[in-house]
Amino acid sequence: MSTGALTIDLDALAANWRALDALTAAETGAVVKADGYGLGAARVARRLAREGARRFFVAVAEEGAVLRRALGPEPEIYVFSGHMEGDTRKLAEAALIPMLNSIEQLARHLETLPGHPFGIQLDTGMNRLGFEWSDWAEAAGIALEHEPLWLMSHLACADEPDHGMNGYQLDIFRQMTDGLGVPRSLSATGGILLGPDYHFDLVRPGIGLYGGHPFEAAQHVVRLDLPVVQCRDLAQGEVVGYGNSWQAERPSRIATLSGGYADGLLRALSDRATLHHGATPCPLVGRVSMDLITVDITDLEADPDYLTLLGPEQGVDALARMAGTIGYEILTSLGRRYARLEQGA
Ligand SMILES: *Cc1c(COP(=O)(O)O)cnc(C)c1O
Repeated sequence: MSTGALTIDLDALAANWRALDALTAAETGAVVKADGYGLGAARVARRLAREGARRFFVAVAEEGAVLRRALGPEPEIYVFSGHMEGDTRKLAEAALIPMLNSIEQLARHLETLPGHPFGIQLDTGMNRLGFEWSDWAEAAGIALEHEPLWLMSHLACADEPDHGMNGYQLDIFRQMTDGLGVPRSLSATGGILLGPDYHFDLVRPGIGLYGGHPFEAAQHVVRLDLPVVQCRDLAQGEVVGYGNSWQAERPSRIATLSGGYADGLLRALSDRATLHHGATPCPLVGRVSMDLITVDITDLEADPDYLTLLGPEQGVDALARMAGTIGYEILTSLGRRYARLEQGA
């Protein structure tokens, strides 16, 4: 096989969901936006439904429609972007539940889909999605008359437990929702780890399910193996790749691997990433090109068939640090060209 192989460990995914579920007395949903953080929303959601997840979250209605076909009629599917113009038919046909973000969305929803369930997203200071406090004060009466399923907000700094924004947003969320008698949801992965004050009735983990920071106890869910296309010997002083950015300081053996920035191997990894052969680290040398990378395998005893970029020795967060980004971006950049293999059923 000449493309990289991305192995998705569904047993590890399920174990991460159960571990997060055990941390709260709240119900645990699952966020599967961006095609399940790049791993395949259908396979991820089907497995988590088997574990007991009943509520799934996506970013936009289009994702929800695809997910509905994969999951069948039972589970609830929520759409963070709410009810946008042009969404009405999709929301109705796929029985998606929009998390309404503004007076405009509320009006559109009540007018075009009367009686169709919805939730409300409130802005508590992140200034990204949700009703502003003043708009909520104006519209809460009408919204509550139509019985929203959930009142929800999102934390901006939950991956930093000591950040003052967490307590601030919690306080605002309480002020906006206390005593209204509607079930509430505030926390994603980071908020779950902040403790019971943040849990309310439903938690919405994403990254923790997929093995990422800040859920440090997570099991690794992805493994990425890149096949070796060819190997060659370099004399001391020879150079590798575009821009001659790497020069051999000793006689070296260089392997060329299938996989490049078109596959989500961020170009910022040039001269910075490490791959592994078993437990032996092998440095990426030279620039990442569109379809290929070059790796120093001088210290291996034999030419390998493939090297591992994500696996037991190196998770998504370690690779993200090398690229100056976050695990979320590594996962959602994983290329379409990889063969996606499932482990666990
Ligand atoms: C992405 C997202 C989540 C999941 O966040 P993680 O940090 O991946 O756990 C939950 N809620 C909202 C509103 C989101 O946008």
